[in-house]
Amino acid sequence: RGGTAEREVPFAKPGSLTRVYAVASGKGGVGKSSVTANLAASLAGQGLSVGVVDADIYGFSIPRMLGVEHRPTQVDDMIMPPVSHGVKVISIGMFVPGNQPVVWRGPMLHRALQQFLADVFWGDLDVLLLDLPPGTGDIAISVAQLVPGAEILVVTTPQQAAAEVAERAGSIALQTHQRIVGVVENMSWLQLPDGSREEIFGSGGGREVAESLTRSVGADVPLLGQIPLDTRLRVGSDEGMPVVLGEPDAPAAAALRDIATGL
Ligand code: ADP
Repeated sequence: RGGTAEREVPFAKPGSLTRVYAVASGKGGVGKSSVTANLAASLAGQGLSVGVVDADIYGFSIPRMLGVEHRPTQVDDMIMPPVSHGVKVISIGMFVPGNQPVVWRGPMLHRALQQFLADVFWGDLDVLLLDLPPGTGDIAISVAQLVPGAEILVVTTPQQAAAEVAERAGSIALQTHQRIVGVVENMSWLQLPDGSREEIFGSGGGREVAESLTRSVGADVPLLGQIPLDTRLRVGSDEGMPVVLGEPDAPAAAALRDIATGL
């Protein structure tokens, strides 16, 4: 909004009833966006008013995962977000011309996030989920500045290396004094036809991150759940029908639903 003063971020006002969760991971490809999209769809399915900000500049995958078919529109000087499966969605990819790769610098991302939070007509949200870029970049600091009450949700795989980087992502929250709501372990195992579980990426990563963060923040950081590998989750994401809605009986859907209910 050229020239005009920055609008206040409604979620930062004292007394805001919107719970804001910043979904973070140490590295890409662990399923952070899939978790965000499914939690959003699940919460909206419970009747809550839900919004998602896709700030993952390397991914832009949230609109596809949630089956968003429309573009944002402008009404007066506010941006109206498209809605899919009852979730209001804004993605930084919706504003990048032709989805051209952009070299994002910290201040640009901060400004984009500020606009997404303040200039989008969200209405009265119960829950706002922010899909952050992977890693411990400036964006986590921006979130803390723009929405001091935002809580961090850490996504990891069971793998040792992924757990270590996830832990570092969580330690940013320490510096910014944000509450870490918990850890989600994704890709925990593959259920074989005989009923046994193959732990493709090892085991224990989620619990390790939760325990280590608990020690470092001095408050309980729970392991909120473990999500198995499931082709139906991946297909649902590719087709814009989140597994929690399209295949609610899949174990991965049940795990995601339980995590959403526990938030
Ligand atoms: P990130 O946001 O961490 O980069 P994504 O959510 O984009 O990761 O997931 C990466 C890929 O892995 C996607 O194709 C997604 O559909 C797939 N995926 C994520 N979690 C699972 C799972 N539990 N089972 C099967 N495929 C998954």
